[in-house]
Amino acid sequence: MNNIIITTIIKMKFKFFLIVILGIINAIVIGIYIQKQGFSNSVLQIKELIHKNKLVNEKILKGTYINKDEIVKEENNEDDILSKPKQQIKNRDNIKKEIKSDIYIDNKTEIDKDINNKTENVKKDKNKPISMAEFDISHIVTGPLDVNCYIIGDPKSKKALVIDPGGSPEEILNICKEKGFELESIYLTHAHFDHMLGIYGLREKTEAKIYLHEDDAALYRMLPLQVKFFGFGSHVSTKELIIPDPDVYIKEGDHVMINGEPVAKIYHTPGHSPGSVCFHFEKINKMYTGDTLFRSSVGRTDLWQGSYEQIRNSVRGKLFKMDDNIEVYPGHGPSSSIGYEKTHNFSV
Ligand SMILES: [Zn+2]
Ligand SMILES: [Zn+2]
Repeated sequence: MNNIIITTIIKMKFKFFLIVILGIINAIVIGIYIQKQGFSNSVLQIKELIHKNKLVNEKILKGTYINKDEIVKEENNEDDILSKPKQQIKNRDNIKKEIKSDIYIDNKTEIDKDINNKTENVKKDKNKPISMAEFDISHIVTGPLDVNCYIIGDPKSKKALVIDPGGSPEEILNICKEKGFELESIYLTHAHFDHMLGIYGLREKTEAKIYLHEDDAALYRMLPLQVKFFGFGSHVSTKELIIPDPDVYIKEGDHVMINGEPVAKIYHTPGHSPGSVCFHFEKINKMYTGDTLFRSSVGRTDLWQGSYEQIRNSVRGKLFKMDDNIEVYPGHGPSSSIGYEKTHNFSV
């Protein structure tokens, strides 16, 4: 009897010893691999592997605004959220909480470090002189989901445009008035309701033309439905939801114009919505990415006609091919840079 117990203990100790040895070997192998490949590359490759095998660990993706179910759903090509009532209810209940908590990853020190590096690099690059006086830019946070809204004016012509007026039309018009700007256009990065609630008030007082990618035209017309779907019906008056159709449909390669002059290049970056676009103001090295690219995250793809595959292609295939020094101004949350996102954004 005693012999059996002693043999069992020896066997268990041997197993324990074996596990410890294997653990040490594993740690050494991973250590050598990371040293060889570089930490960022290794993490990217590991992430890619996890994605390919659909073994998405929710902890890794926590804070990226995308969950495992959404990725698997996208890969099954099930675009139609309306056919998934359970998911729909979850999204409606959690949207505001998720947006507030998950995508607002604030790491000011790192942003400052990036911006300082960027400024140094830009100073060195004589071919790309930066004139910050080129445009007058004001930033306000608007609407029920805290959309970043930008008023960009040309001090010479005194004409201005607004990107994503998510609300506060009076504030936008006051800024224009104070600076002596005439608001001539409204550029939308996409047609989700949170980026559009200021349109009614602006069009009531000005003749600013509305610019939108045509692939978001259906979403644009669904404004009242979107507001109802997300449960904000009581926050917005019915008349504010009846807005004129877009005046101009924009597409890849077009330019954002101020006073008839091209000031930014338009990139079609579908995924968050079919007609999502980014505006790249080359002269001032700034890109407005809407909900396509956030700091360390990307926009959700479980809404109408969203696609994870598309947003991955847009971000990796288009935005990450651009210059590291470009400053990124998303539709929600803090700013970033292409260089920072290339090494810190594991959402795509
Ligand atoms: Zn959106
Ligand atoms: Zn948004």
